Amino acid sequence: MTRRILVTSALPYANGAIHLGHLVEYIQTDIWVRFQKMVGNECWYVCADDTHGTPIMLRAEKEGITPEQLIARVHGEHFRDFSSFHVGFDNYYSTHSPETQHYANTIYGRLKDAGLIEVRTIEQYYDPVKQMFLPDRFIKGECPKCHAKDQYGDNCEVCGAAYAPTDLIEPFSAVSGAKPELRNSDHYFFKLSDPRCEAFLRQYTSREHGVLQAEAANKMQEWLGDAGENKLTDWDISRDAPYFGFEIPGAPGKYFYVWLDAPIGYMGSFQNLCSKQGLNFDDFFKPDSSAELYHFIGKDILYFHSLFWPAELQHAGYRTPTKIFAHGFLTVDGAKMSKSRGTFITAESFIEHGLNPEWLRYYFAAKLSATMEDIDLSFADFSARVNSDLVGKYVNIASRSAGFISKRFNGQLAPADTSLPAIKAIQDAAPRIAELYEAREFGKAVREIMALTDAANQYVDSVKPWELAKQEGKEVELHAACTNALNLFRLLTVLLKPILPVTAGKVESFLNIAPLSWADAQTLLAGGHAIQAYSHLMTRVDPKTIEKLIDANKQSLAPTPAPEAHSQQRHAEHQQKEAKKETKAAPSPADADGLCTIDDFMKIDLRIALIANAEHVEGADKLVRLTLDIGEEKPRNVFAGIKAAYDPAQLIGRLTVMVANLAPRKMKFGMSEGMVMAASDPEGKTPGIYLLSPDSGATPGMRVK
Ligand SMILES: [Zn+2]
Repeated sequence: MTRRILVTSALPYANGAIHLGHLVEYIQTDIWVRFQKMVGNECWYVCADDTHGTPIMLRAEKEGITPEQLIARVHGEHFRDFSSFHVGFDNYYSTHSPETQHYANTIYGRLKDAGLIEVRTIEQYYDPVKQMFLPDRFIKGECPKCHAKDQYGDNCEVCGAAYAPTDLIEPFSAVSGAKPELRNSDHYFFKLSDPRCEAFLRQYTSREHGVLQAEAANKMQEWLGDAGENKLTDWDISRDAPYFGFEIPGAPGKYFYVWLDAPIGYMGSFQNLCSKQGLNFDDFFKPDSSAELYHFIGKDILYFHSLFWPAELQHAGYRTPTKIFAHGFLTVDGAKMSKSRGTFITAESFIEHGLNPEWLRYYFAAKLSATMEDIDLSFADFSARVNSDLVGKYVNIASRSAGFISKRFNGQLAPADTSLPAIKAIQDAAPRIAELYEAREFGKAVREIMALTDAANQYVDSVKPWELAKQEGKEVELHAACTNALNLFRLLTVLLKPILPVTAGKVESFLNIAPLSWADAQTLLAGGHAIQAYSHLMTRVDPKTIEKLIDANKQSLAPTPAPEAHSQQRHAEHQQKEAKKETKAAPSPADADGLCTIDDFMKIDLRIALIANAEHVEGADKLVRLTLDIGEEKPRNVFAGIKAAYDPAQLIGRLTVMVANLAPRKMKFGMSEGMVMAASDPEGKTPGIYLLSPDSGATPGMRVK
């Protein structure tokens, strides 16, 4: 039976460019959707820009345009970027739409009727000059813990402490610079802590229920707490005017906050598609719907998609998601994407520099699994894999055989050898590879496909068409060899098509065949079938192009970065911190006897550091000069007394731990901007110095505490 499937990716915020980190999710989703369509399922892929909120309002004001003009422009940019990476949405819409507003109002009304909406008066900072309540990210001041200046209202970037904006010392508005006043305001809350929500969520997020990946289900049980211990907090769903968004029905001057419009954008976009395609929305969203609903998301918004969103749908009389698929983050060359290193690469610049988007699709596919593990883009590995797998192995099969068919056989194929082991192997593997695609184990699928590609090349190497072509009277053998090679190539194209849709399209026109479906893995081209002339399908990655791309993306960071772009993520983190704060035990009091408090300890900023370079210091007996990368704009220069224990060359590339906020010290050989941490026996019984290393997975700049 044909499955009816609705798929979404998270909604990008309409306040920034699409970069390679975003693309992991859209490429992952697109590959899965294309696979579903190839096997013949009815599958719809919808998404939208997340367009509301204070950052959009303020940015539009700064640019001297309306928020509507801003989001229209960004929508165009986002759609262009996704399209250039062949992300094939069935609908790419906007949350600023009548459909989204309709469902936001409906859901709100039903939750209110169910007694799940409550109004509370809260105290919040207000900018008397700008005449608006200030979101946490728009209040700055001195950190109450470490006293660093110029910190945001939700957490300190120096010591990592999380707090409420009211805890800041000498707060000021980041919008006008004015001293904010505390004012009361009525806010609307969704009662996630209601026993009905808790009971539903315990069951819905359980491992047995299977909606979530095992690791995500475990995390949810942690967030829910033990039975009887309700750790869920109510969620603030309103903001005061002025605000760019939807006004709450019956509440003048109050607007729906992100939770009550952004995810509803999934429904809005689908409703819009339904109108265009003549589909029935209720077939997909009624509570007993047999259609399947999947959300692909980053692990950062898991809390929100696994708890808040399903609870909202369930109690408003809609179906809940079939499964929620969370993926990890992208690192580049082992580190967080960084503007100073040029690894914060936008989709637009990748294309502008002439890189083939299918290279990235293939590389991400080769790295992706069904887990929430981070994936790393190593440019050396990227070039090697694309050049060896796609160009050297896959495309090579066609380029070594197609010419002979055109030149010697009038473009016509011989009958295929149905018993050829390499052909049988692919046909036998196709159902297994289909299961891997379905399970989002793309990396495993790619490994299997490449093993089959190796076998196909071994066949070509064994029959050597280029030698047969030189020999008299070997016409039949040559015809058979090239025909088999092209059949192998066509079968491999079926398996790779969800990842390489454009190349597959070129193959379809060169082989002169209808669009390939998954079932075509079990068929072969008929004898006498005529193909078109072959033209080259894919070029190799030139490392110089990658260098240019990275150079072009290097930016000097402004001293104060603009508030974070992704509202869903930023606010999800904030809600989690809020939830944590309420359950956290009070810090232990200071102790006189040589003990320090957690607050004292937290003053030491320990960071994971990548040793980018290490060298001997001319004229120093003990010192090694280390260049340490902790994800900052400029690497740190640190002198370490470890020469007796380490050869500098061996240190390059390894991770260690450094004290990042040690006052810089001027030494004979230059400034030392920190200290690396090493163990040694205080009594000197066991000689040696032992540099610390984190477990694998840690990345430069991570806080150690
Ligand atoms: Zn601090």
